[in-house]
Amino acid sequence: MSDKPDKCSTFPLPLSSVTGDARKGPAFAPARVATPRVANPQVATPRVATPQTATRNAARNGVQPNGPSPYVARVVASPSKSHSDALLRAQPLPVTPPRPDMGVSDAIRRAMVARVARQGVKDTVVLGALETVQRHRFIEPALSAQAYIDASLPIGHNQTISRPYIVARMLEVLRNGGPLNRVLEIGTGCGYQAAVLSCIAKDVYSVERIRQLHELAKTNLRHLRIVNLRLHYGDGMLGLPQAAPFDGIILAAAGLEVPQALLDQLSVGGRLVAPVGAQVQHLQLITRTGKAEWMSETLEGCHFVPLRPGTV
Ligand code: SAH
Repeated sequence: MSDKPDKCSTFPLPLSSVTGDARKGPAFAPARVATPRVANPQVATPRVATPQTATRNAARNGVQPNGPSPYVARVVASPSKSHSDALLRAQPLPVTPPRPDMGVSDAIRRAMVARVARQGVKDTVVLGALETVQRHRFIEPALSAQAYIDASLPIGHNQTISRPYIVARMLEVLRNGGPLNRVLEIGTGCGYQAAVLSCIAKDVYSVERIRQLHELAKTNLRHLRIVNLRLHYGDGMLGLPQAAPFDGIILAAAGLEVPQALLDQLSVGGRLVAPVGAQVQHLQLITRTGKAEWMSETLEGCHFVPLRPGTV
C-alpha cells in the first residue's frame, strides 16, 4: 500500500475544526478498534483481495494501473481552497503520461472506481471523489488488503463501512447531477463516507451515536484536515437542528421509516437518501417539494446496519 498522503491532506486546518467541539483540542484518545466481527451476512465469507488480485482485476477492468485517471482532476487548486471546490469542477482529463509517484493503492483504488462505474454509477464528480479518498486508511490494518473489494467491512461495535458501490450510488442520487451545498450524514462510522462527501459538497455535518466510533472517525480524519467537515456525537434520528436546513441528508443506517425530524430539516427542494426496512431493505429517495410536502421514491434493494435511537 502506498504511504503517500491523501490529496486531501494538503489542506491546512486546525485539528479542532474536524470535530464538533472546538474546545476539546487535539487530545484524541487512540482509536480502540474491536476485534473484527462480521455484522453483514454479505461478508460472512469475505473474499480476500491482495494487491496482486487487485492488480489483476485492474487489468481485467481495462484499467492501466499507472495511466491517467479518467475522473480525478488535479484536485488541489490551492491550499486556501476547499478540495470540494476543485472536485466539483472535476472533468474527464486529457490523456497525460503515467505518474511515476503513483502507488499500489492508487492503482487498486482506480480499479475499484472503474468497477463502480461498470456497476452503473455515472456521476464523474462522485467517481472522482471515490478515487480521491484512500479507503484503506479508514479500515484497520488487518483488513486493509480488502479495502477496495466490493464489500462492506467490519469497523467494530457490530458496525460496517458500506460497499464502495452503495456509497457512490447514494451520493449520485443525492447530488442528482447538481452541486450540494449543506449536507447532513447520519452514521459517521469510521468517517470514510464523510470524507467522500466533503469532496462533493460545500459543507458536511456528520453525526454518530457510538462515542468510540465518533472518536475513531476523528482519528481517521485528523490527518486529512478537511475544512468543510464537522463531526458530531449524538442521536442522528433527531437530526442537527442547529445546522439545518440541509439540501441533502444521507443515512448510513436503516430504519423502518425516515424520522420526521430529518424530513423537517430538509430545505424545500432538498433530497434525502436512506436505506429503509428491516430484513428486506430498499434505498428511498425523499424530496421535499413544499413546506409540508414530501415526495418519496423507492430505489434498489440494499443491506445496512440498523438505525438506532439514543447514544452509547
Ligand atoms: N458511513 C459510515 C458507515 C457506518 S455504518 C462509514 O463510512 O463508515 C452506520 C453507522 O450508523 C454506525 O456507525 C452506527 O453507529 C450509526 N448509527 C446508527 N443509528 C444512528 C443514529 N441514530 N445516529 C447516529 N448514528 C447512527
